[in-house]
Amino acid sequence: MPGDGDGATTRDTDVVIVGAGPGGCVLSYLLARSGVDTVLLERHTDLDREFRGYLFQPLVLRLFDQMGVLDDVRLLDHDEVRRPLLTVFGHPYEVVDFSRLPKPYDYGILMEQPPLLRLLIDRSNEFENFEFHPATTVTDLLTDGGDVVGVTATDRGHDETLELHSSLVVGADGRYSTVREVAGIDPGLFDSQVELLWFRLPADAVHSAAQGRIESDGIVLYFGLGEEEAQAGWFIQKGAYPEIRERGIDDLRRRIGAVEPTLARHLVSFDQCSLLHIEPGLAERWVSDGLLLLGDAAHVASPVGGQGNGLAIQDAVVAHSTIVGALDGADGVIPAARLRRFESIRRPAVEEVVRLQRRGERALSWYVLNHDSIPGWVAAPFARLLFAVAPKTPGFRRAWETFALGAEDVSVEDAPFTS
Ligand SMILES: Cc1cc2nc3c(=O)[nH]c(=O)nc-3n(C[C@H](O)[C@H](O)[C@H](O)COP(=O)(O)OP(=O)(O)OC[C@H]3O[C@@H](n4cnc5c(N)ncnc54)[C@H](O)[C@@H]3O)c2cc1C
Repeated sequence: MPGDGDGATTRDTDVVIVGAGPGGCVLSYLLARSGVDTVLLERHTDLDREFRGYLFQPLVLRLFDQMGVLDDVRLLDHDEVRRPLLTVFGHPYEVVDFSRLPKPYDYGILMEQPPLLRLLIDRSNEFENFEFHPATTVTDLLTDGGDVVGVTATDRGHDETLELHSSLVVGADGRYSTVREVAGIDPGLFDSQVELLWFRLPADAVHSAAQGRIESDGIVLYFGLGEEEAQAGWFIQKGAYPEIRERGIDDLRRRIGAVEPTLARHLVSFDQCSLLHIEPGLAERWVSDGLLLLGDAAHVASPVGGQGNGLAIQDAVVAHSTIVGALDGADGVIPAARLRRFESIRRPAVEEVVRLQRRGERALSWYVLNHDSIPGWVAAPFARLLFAVAPKTPGFRRAWETFALGAEDVSVEDAPFTS
């Protein structure tokens, strides 16, 4: 019931979701469609976000299909990825082949996040039991004893403070999660020795959906993002960005040009760049009484293997069935005991993905830190042999299939859907 106490507008709902990223938006849609009173809060006024995960693995297509949104998603501007090309010292390798996966989910999708998030929110808005508040920043949790009983938030659009009382707060607010912080949950960050410098490019700078290039001078990844633009990522040593800026854009262009000459001429200003601190993590706990964390808030994703979106969306799918089950017959705050199913299903699967990512990241870091001191005539034959042999090994195949299909079979539970 809406009310107005102590200058704050108060309201009751079943579930408050903090953060309209892929995890928060998928969970909103699934709960809204299941008849659960759901409020989604997003601090940004629009859904625009720069330099976010663009690759959606094949497993996401299957889940979107089960949710009944895949046909609409495919109408959005996107590129399909079947055999991303990796060029190693001038030789092309198809290290991953999605087209070998079971049809019809035998490709990945590269697309910008905002149109996808907008689509999920529009579909959620078809249900009266759903509300979306953009420009609304959650500042604190409401607690009663040890229970989380809601959130306080500032709604800048309506210039008001909101107090939302709920049976459950879902922290889907990303890597710098406010919910996780005010709940006093350690993000469990691992150290990383590399960072990724992203830069935005015109669409015609890139001629295929996804590519990577490893040369004596470093490693570049680049992606097409539909008809509008493309992006590239350049791995650098952690902490090196201030020095790169000091040396100037011409120097950066020259260094990237030494790896991929066609990209370099499109890099004209540091305004095109954004630095990604890799530091992945696994929060110490994901549920407590009245609280559940998912996506990057629960486990900060490393960019290795393009896993962040898929992990957040799988979390949302498992959270949906857990929450619907926990709300059934519940009165008041959902106790942690009824939320543990979520963590017991998702944590081992996420840990397996993180283990594989860390293995890849160790090799990557070693090369980023040492490539300057290895002569090309030593590195080139070794790297070519490695990339000719490694993709054929069962271990490598198992790793990319886990990245593409997920470490655990997750499916949307449609029994609670009201339509
Ligand atoms: C440069 C870069 C490249 C990446 N590439 C890939 C890739 O190719 N493939 C892939 O799968 N993953 C990739 N990732 C990771 C991926 O983007 C994330 O893992 C994914 O977006 C996580 O989804 P999420 O819903 O958990 O959180 P997010 O997408 O981070 O969404 C969190 C939302 O919460 C909102 N929020 C935060 N605090 C508050 C608050 N206090 N109140 C209200 N709202 C709040 C934020 O504004 C945001 O909209 C990449 C990440 C980066 C940074």
